[in-house]
Amino acid sequence: MKRARRPLELSFRLGYYILKNRLRGRKKFPLVTMLEPLEMCNLSCIGCGRIREYKPVLDKMMSVEVALEAVKQSGAPIVSIAGGEPTIHPRIDQIINQLLEQKYFVYCCTNALLMERVLKKVAPSKYLCWVVHLDGMEAKHDESVDRQGVFKKAIQGIEMALDQGYRVCTNTTVFRGSDVEDLWEMFRFVGDLGVEGSMISPGFDFEDAPDQEMFLTRQESHNLFKKLLNPVDTAGMRFYNNPLYLNFLKGDREYQCTAWSNPTYTVMGWRKPCYPLADEHVEDVNELYKDDLWERYGVGKDPRCANCMMHCGFESATIFQAVSTPKDWVTLIKSGAAHKGGITAA
Ligand code: SF4
Ligand code: SF4
Repeated sequence: MKRARRPLELSFRLGYYILKNRLRGRKKFPLVTMLEPLEMCNLSCIGCGRIREYKPVLDKMMSVEVALEAVKQSGAPIVSIAGGEPTIHPRIDQIINQLLEQKYFVYCCTNALLMERVLKKVAPSKYLCWVVHLDGMEAKHDESVDRQGVFKKAIQGIEMALDQGYRVCTNTTVFRGSDVEDLWEMFRFVGDLGVEGSMISPGFDFEDAPDQEMFLTRQESHNLFKKLLNPVDTAGMRFYNNPLYLNFLKGDREYQCTAWSNPTYTVMGWRKPCYPLADEHVEDVNELYKDDLWERYGVGKDPRCANCMMHCGFESATIFQAVSTPKDWVTLIKSGAAHKGGITAA
């Protein structure tokens, strides 16, 4: 099957946006707005912190106006919609359609259980990509989401979306119990279906997740990703993450987190400091860009950051560093991946 390709316009627009902000002298600015219009979900995955830490506000829904205003306030050209399960939101079609009208690049992260319903209300667009959560083949994925039959539904959702001309990616969170060979089989399988690519990252060790033993330490992540991403066994697989971030996952490169580039807006306000940590919620996104905040957070600063290797903090870091390192920028351009700033929920 022919695979859809990422629109070139995304790379050009993001490159122009970064240049414009740099010329204005901004050191910290967003690449991706993470929008969580609700925290409710129709699943209860064992590694999910969101549905547990937002338990008191699971019934809260963000209005369309508030969602659009948050995206405008952030100003980033890419919007990643997550949650909770965003397709449960009764006005998700209006949020997505209005963002598409304004030519934001929208990535909607979903478990795909309600795909048929949402596809009827949102037309295919080069600005829209569905990002379907898959943690392995059938047995492994159903175990990860703690419900039988979810893998089959997710695959049906992917096929339905691809048949109707939508762009689709998958997103995989890797845990201590992940099976490398099972993941290879899954990456090949979804690649053959025609998805644009597979995103991967290790799970964040959310304090509220019931099983803390499932999360990888930093060293364990390096070891697992060295095996998972070895060039022989992954030949022909298409990963959506940029190659610098994949090298970081393998431990071949080190970066300091730039999570301020992925501000996350929730039903309680902007998460401060970052997508994984909600020490506070604030009303003004500019609070997330203050230098003194980032003297307290990041690897080696806050113990909760020790094992964090998430897209939101580190894929964005590869891009910011590449801007001032021509060789790395060429690597990103060649891979066609200069457009991403850590777009997914995990
Ligand atoms: S990880 Fe995603 S699909 Fe699973 S419970 Fe959390 S929000 Fe829902
Ligand atoms: S390393 Fe960065 S993204 Fe990860 S928890 Fe710490 S501040 Fe957040």
